[in-house]
Order: sequence, then C-alpha cells, then structure tokens
Amino acid sequence: MMSGFSRLGALGLLTAGALLSATACGGGSGVSEVGATSDGKPEVVAAFYPLQWLTEQVGGSDVQVTGLTAPGVEPHDLELGIQQVTDLQNAALTVYVKGVQPAVDDAVDQEKSFDAATAVTTIPAGEGHEHEHEGEEEHGHDEVGYDPHLWLDPSRMATVAGKLGERLAAADAAHAQAYRDRAAKTAAALTTLDQEFTKGLTTCRSRTMVTAHEAFGYLADRYKLKQVGITLDPETEPSPARLSEVAKLARAEGVTTIFTEALVSPKVAEVLANEVGAKTAVLDPLESKPSGDYVSAMRDNLKTLQTALGCTA
Ligand SMILES: [Zn+2]
Repeated sequence: MMSGFSRLGALGLLTAGALLSATACGGGSGVSEVGATSDGKPEVVAAFYPLQWLTEQVGGSDVQVTGLTAPGVEPHDLELGIQQVTDLQNAALTVYVKGVQPAVDDAVDQEKSFDAATAVTTIPAGEGHEHEHEGEEEHGHDEVGYDPHLWLDPSRMATVAGKLGERLAAADAAHAQAYRDRAAKTAAALTTLDQEFTKGLTTCRSRTMVTAHEAFGYLADRYKLKQVGITLDPETEPSPARLSEVAKLARAEGVTTIFTEALVSPKVAEVLANEVGAKTAVLDPLESKPSGDYVSAMRDNLKTLQTALGCTA
C-alpha cells in the first residue's frame, strides 16, 4: 500500500511538472507550441469551405489548415463538438466570416482570428422578406446586420486574399514574403475569374435570379443582377404567402429557371418552377466543398447563369 501511494504521488508531481513546463514554453514569442504542429507550422482553422480554399492558397506549405465544417454539412447551423472547440482554442489563427455560423462567432478568440467581413465592403442582409425570420434570432444572418455570403463575389475574395496574406505575414514573420507572394497570385486568379463573370453576364435576356436561399447577394451586387431568394435561411420552409409572392415576381420578370442548391431539398424550388412553367438548375452557394475547387465551381455557376438568363458573351 505504501509503495502504491508514493508511486501515485510521484506521478502527480510529474504531471504537475509537465504542465508547468508546457505553460512556460507556451508563453514564448511568436508562434509557440500552442497553435503549431510538431514541425512548427502554424495551425490555421478555416470555418467553412471557401475560406478553407483561400487559406490553403495563401498559406501554402507554411501552414497546416483545418476545416471546421465537414464536407456535405450545411454550415449555417453548425454546432461545435469538444474537439472542434479545442481546435479553435489551440489554433494560431481562425479564419471566419462573422454572421455565417453563430456557434463559431461565439467560440473564436478575437485576438487570434481573421474575420473576412472586416476586409470588404458589406451589403445589407436580405431586406426582401424580413417578415419571414422574425423571432429567429438564433440564425446568424440577421444578427450582424449585413449579408455574410461575401465569398460569392470573386472581386471581394481577391481583397480578402490580400488582407489574409498580411495577417499571416504578421503572425509568422519568418515566412512573410511567401504569404504575400501567394496572396498576390491568388488575388490575380480571382481577378481573372471576376473579369470572366463581368464579361459573361454583360448581355442577358433576364437579370433576375430566383434562388433557393438568399446566398447570392454579393454576386448580384457585383454583376448587376437581381436576386430573389425563396428563403433567407436554408433550413426554413417558405410560407405560402412568400411562395406566391415569388411566383408572381418570377412570372412578371419572365424567369425561365429557378435555382436550387445541393444541400437544400429541391422540392420547394420544383413546386415553384412547375407553377410558373420554369426549369430548375443547380447554382452552388459554395457553403460546402464542391467536386472541384472554388474557382472551377464558380466557373460552373457562371455557365449555369449564362444559360438560365440567356446571356450572350
Ligand atoms: Zn447561406
């Protein structure tokens, strides 16, 4: 019994000692053990797919990127498990958009985070149908007062790339130039994509896009289209009043295609399409990983829009 007790005592001391030295090391300069991989790379958590893609482009091999939202998961209503909260707390940097995921907004450490919404000019949250989401304050969209879906405008994403490059350069000064170089290259690719959209959507028979949920406000803003979202929140069923309102609008504007998205049931869009004599087509809001990457999925969106809106490039 005596030896058993003393062994436990020794273990206790060892544990306490290990904790103390870990704390001492963690308080060091720059990128410490906390938030770094064993080979010293900063661990960066990206809240959902487009930010993950952007962080991988800008961070390159100098960072270890972890995506917080698993592929196929609708990000808006993400709930964080213990492991995810731990990942967030330990990360050297978290890249997110305030207003997309309330759970992430609550858990991020303000000192070690990059909110992409602070990097660009935001537009107001869908004003079209405020009556739909009264009393739904748990949803992120209306908490911040702006539309958070900024990643659907490639020109704003180019701006975010540059600012993210600066943020990473500040956090990991040893690789500052590499972050800036990759940010410039990424921004250039996004600017090319932006030019393709501008050119491809210049001359169209219709400029109204009816979408499953109101995710494409920035795309509409940038390329002078008009978005009519059936719902604001992908999880909400539209009211009959909202549906007939959208149907009326779709008829008045000669809409030929109702857009659906992969993670939302197409049922409502199909009913609406039937009613107004339109087709449906998938327009990807990129809230989850597409089969290709951000750029190829956006090019697919451009093609879908050109066909649906009758654009001649
Ligand atoms: Zn959304």
